[in-house]
Amino acid sequence: MSRTYLIIAEHRDGKLRQVALEALQAAVIASGDGDSLSAVVLGSQLDSLAGELSSYPLSDIHVIEHDSLIHYNAEAYLAALSPVLDSVQPDAVFTGHTAIGRDLAPAIAAKLQAGQLSDVIAIEPSDGQIVYTRPLYAGKAFEKKIVQDSRSVVTVRPNNIPAAQPTEGHQARIIKVDTPANSLRTVVKEVVRKTSGKVDLTEAKIIVSGGRGVKSADGFKPLEELAGLLGGAVGASRGACDAGYCDYGLQIGQTGKVVTPEIYIACGISGAIQHLAGMSQSRIIIAINKDPEAPIFKIADYGIVGDLFEVVPLLTREFRKV
Ligand code: FAD
Repeated sequence: MSRTYLIIAEHRDGKLRQVALEALQAAVIASGDGDSLSAVVLGSQLDSLAGELSSYPLSDIHVIEHDSLIHYNAEAYLAALSPVLDSVQPDAVFTGHTAIGRDLAPAIAAKLQAGQLSDVIAIEPSDGQIVYTRPLYAGKAFEKKIVQDSRSVVTVRPNNIPAAQPTEGHQARIIKVDTPANSLRTVVKEVVRKTSGKVDLTEAKIIVSGGRGVKSADGFKPLEELAGLLGGAVGASRGACDAGYCDYGLQIGQTGKVVTPEIYIACGISGAIQHLAGMSQSRIIIAINKDPEAPIFKIADYGIVGDLFEVVPLLTREFRKV
């Protein structure tokens, strides 16, 4: 029996987010011959985004444009998605495990009476079934799940599944969908972004992260310099955020962002379990800490025992030579 998959394609600043293409790839892996893949994109002025998406392996793209969708608003998004969910009747919905995906997925699951698989980091076929892997207990254990007969809503952790690639000569059908006239109880007037990094933290390939050891807002400057040089993003522990050294938008961990970069450089971070929950899946972890007993060294691939104010500028100088 053929199945239908729907991808919610997140975008920001007029560009598709990398995680949207990773969610699409997850759906590609989950699908089989004869299954159909659709995407939905919400916002305003979406022509070029829809055009970009149309070269990916999708049969059709539902485009929902309305002023109420310019900024994410759960109520508006769910109302706008409803006609698409009703017409597509997806067996599975895939989206990113992002702030939006984490908020929207349970609402979609409730509407579809579907089960939810959150924070999936791997998806693979095995013995004729699709096996989803997700971390548990702050990354200390992994759970493997299969979906049997029920519908499912899947959120995919950024940077874990390779992004889908465009198919040469392919052109998905673009379907414009009207937004139902709804009187919304909440309206998002403006989004004020406090973090100004060029690279999105959750999608960054390299993160230079600072903890309480950074000691002040100015103490983040050498980290920003190194991150800028490497084309990465700056992150932080809650210790640093609580101390007022940086914005909470940078917090990584159990109650912050979950990241999986290629390289995570932890500077002056002790390695509390709540911090590890947000970064322990990073490919390579480099820890810089002046305390050789700091727990972060237990999970680090490379450890530098030293003062971050000497080590970080030294690394920056050396990388500049490369
Ligand atoms: P500290 O533990 O104070 O460590 C500072 C480190 O800097 C030390 O190891 C020290 O040796 C080193 N250092 C000092 N000076 C230098 C120097 N000059 N050079 C090199 N190293 C130096 N934490 C998170 O990070 N993210 C979360 O999401 C999170 N969620 C939480 C949720 C709950 C419910 C609770 C209870 C806690 C949570 N925490 C979280 C807090 C967590 O338990 C730790 O308190 C926090 O991670 C500590 O931050 P830190 O490592 O920066 O500070």
